[in-house]
Amino acid sequence: MLGIIGAMDEEVAKIKEHMTETTIEKIAGMEFHKGILEGKDVVTVRSGIGKVNAGICTQILIDHFGVNAVINTGIAGSLRGDIKIGDIVLSTDTVQHDMDASGFGYSYGQIPRLDTLSFPADEKLIDLAEKCCREVNPHINVFRGRVVSGDQFVSEQTKKDTIANIFEGFCTEMEGAAIGQVAYLNKIPYLVIRAISDNADDTAGIDYDTFEKQAIENSAKLMIAMTAAYEG
Ligand code: SAH
Repeated sequence: MLGIIGAMDEEVAKIKEHMTETTIEKIAGMEFHKGILEGKDVVTVRSGIGKVNAGICTQILIDHFGVNAVINTGIAGSLRGDIKIGDIVLSTDTVQHDMDASGFGYSYGQIPRLDTLSFPADEKLIDLAEKCCREVNPHINVFRGRVVSGDQFVSEQTKKDTIANIFEGFCTEMEGAAIGQVAYLNKIPYLVIRAISDNADDTAGIDYDTFEKQAIENSAKLMIAMTAAYEG
């Protein structure tokens, strides 16, 4: 069983439309749509925005639905000049940029007393996503790199520069590293797929409104194609 998480309704709408034999269960205010997508058993859910929602959602998928892998599909702000609006980033790993215990000598992003700074994504899922992306989204570029998450919509050049420099991230969003942390703690494979909606700088708000739909289309299309090819 594959768990598919989008933070917002828009990010999972098309995926839910493609599902058949769907039954819905509501837990913690989240509607879990269990059914068949491209011949595979999946649970698709809108977690809500931010790390706490995403973390709760992932744990429910694991405990209640018994998923053995989790994929997060959605949109993000680019942290690099070569990653353009519409392009897709596949997480090599995820890190939480708003975790700061540097007062105790920890690196930025390091959760005290946890044995890792970032949460490595599953290499097989990355490979599969890259292959599928080239097939269904040939007009865009696909990147493998670090996804940096925090409970902040990054829409300022200075904040973007700080995050980009400290974490060497490829894109920033608000859920991926919470999903990564829960997957890590439960020892299940995961992947974050994010299409770029904005550049996380002073124009991010305007770009987001303009390009949100197009970016979501790219990530949802990949999510559906990847499920068809998934043999987990
Ligand atoms: N438009 C929404 C709020 C979206 S918050 C509303 O009005 O309710 C931004 C969402 O898109 C989050 O789920 C986050 O993961 C992602 N995102 C896209 N660009 C981002 C950026 N520049 N910084 C942080 N998150 C971003």
